[in-house]
Amino acid sequence: MKPKFETLAIKSTENQLNNSNPVSTPIHLSTTYKRNSDGSYNNDLVYSRNDNPNRKIVEYSIAQLENGNHAFAFSSGMAAVSAIFQSLKTGDHIILPDDIYYAIKKLMDQIFKPWGLTYDLINMCDLKSVENAIKPTTSLIWVESPSNPQLKISDIAAISKIAKNRNILCAVDNTWATPVFQNPLTLGADIVMHSSTKYFGGHSDVIGGCIVVNDDKLAEKIKTIQVLSGAVPSPFDCWLIARGIQTLHLRVTKQAENALKLAQYLETHPKIEKVNYPGLTSHTQHIIAKKQQSGFGAMLSVLIKGTETETFEISTKLKYFTTATSLGGVESLVEHRKSVEGKDGPTPINLLRISVGIEHIDDLIADWENALN
Ligand code: PLP
Repeated sequence: MKPKFETLAIKSTENQLNNSNPVSTPIHLSTTYKRNSDGSYNNDLVYSRNDNPNRKIVEYSIAQLENGNHAFAFSSGMAAVSAIFQSLKTGDHIILPDDIYYAIKKLMDQIFKPWGLTYDLINMCDLKSVENAIKPTTSLIWVESPSNPQLKISDIAAISKIAKNRNILCAVDNTWATPVFQNPLTLGADIVMHSSTKYFGGHSDVIGGCIVVNDDKLAEKIKTIQVLSGAVPSPFDCWLIARGIQTLHLRVTKQAENALKLAQYLETHPKIEKVNYPGLTSHTQHIIAKKQQSGFGAMLSVLIKGTETETFEISTKLKYFTTATSLGGVESLVEHRKSVEGKDGPTPINLLRISVGIEHIDDLIADWENALN
C-alpha cells in the first residue's frame, strides 16, 4: 500500500545522502538518531545534546591541534570556563591571574562564590606569589597567557610544575595565543580552554568555546558536565568553527606579522606611553613569551598619553579599526576596555585594546598615524 501524503511527506524527505561523499561537510541538524533493531546506534550517535557529527569533527580537530587526547565543544567560551569550575567541589579554592578576562572574575563573584568556591587574584608573572597563594583547599590554578587586556605573560611550564607538585590542576586559557603559537598541554598544563568565538571562528560570526585535556578521568567529568548541563554548540556553529579552523594558521600568522609591525610603529610614537605586546623586546616577559610561544599573537594594547576622553576619541578616529568588543576576526578592532569592563579591575583608563586583522599593514599604520595626530 502506498503511504498516505502525510507519511510520504515525512518519508520522502529523509536523509538519503549517506553514500554521496560530499567534499564539504554537510550540517547535520538532526537532534535524534535512529536506533538499530539490536538496540545499538551507528557511530554512537543517540541525541544531539550528547553528540553530533559536526561537533565530533570540531572536537577531534581541536584535540589534534592542541596535542590533547580529548576535546569538548561548548556554546561559548564562558560555558567552557563554567564547565571547568563546575568540575570542582564546594569549598575548593582557585588561584586566578589579576589581569584575567573580566567576565571570568564576574562569573566567580556572581555565580560560583555563592556556590561555595573561593578564589584569590594574584600577579602570575611572579612565581613566588603563585606558591604563596596556595592553600590546602586549592584545587586549580588558572593561567591566562597572554592576558586580556594587558598581555601579561605567565610561565606555563613553571606554574604547571608548581601545580603538579601539590596535586593541583593547572588550566590555561589559550584563546589569545591560539594553538598555532602555544600548546599548554605540551608545556605541562592539565587543561586548555578556548573561546572559539575568537581565532577558531575567525570571522566574528559564531560564539563557541572548548576544553582540551589528556587525562581520561578528567575527560569523563567534563563530558558529563557538557551533556548534562547542556551548554552545547549547534551543528551550524560547529560547522562554522570547523570551517574557520581550516584557515586558522594562514590568518593568525598574517595577523601576528601585522601586529608586530604595528606594535613596533606605535612604540616609537610620542603620543603613546606604552605598548603591551609580548613580541617587543621591551615587554617585561618577552623572554618567557619567546620560550613558550612560537609566535606572539595578534593582540596588543596601548596606553595613550592623555585622559580617558582623549583615549576614547582616538579610537573613534580610526577608519580601519572598528570600535567594537571581541577579537580574533579577520577585521581589525579597537576597544576602550575600561568603559566596557566597568570601574573595578586593574585596566588603566588610557588603555586601548587592539585586535589586528589581515588588512595591509601600510593602511593600518597610516590609520594610527592619522588618528594620533
Ligand atoms: N577568555 C578570553 C581570554 C576572552 O577574551 C573571552 C572573550 O572575550 C572569553 C574567555 C570568553 O569567551 P566567549 O565570549 O566566547 O564566551
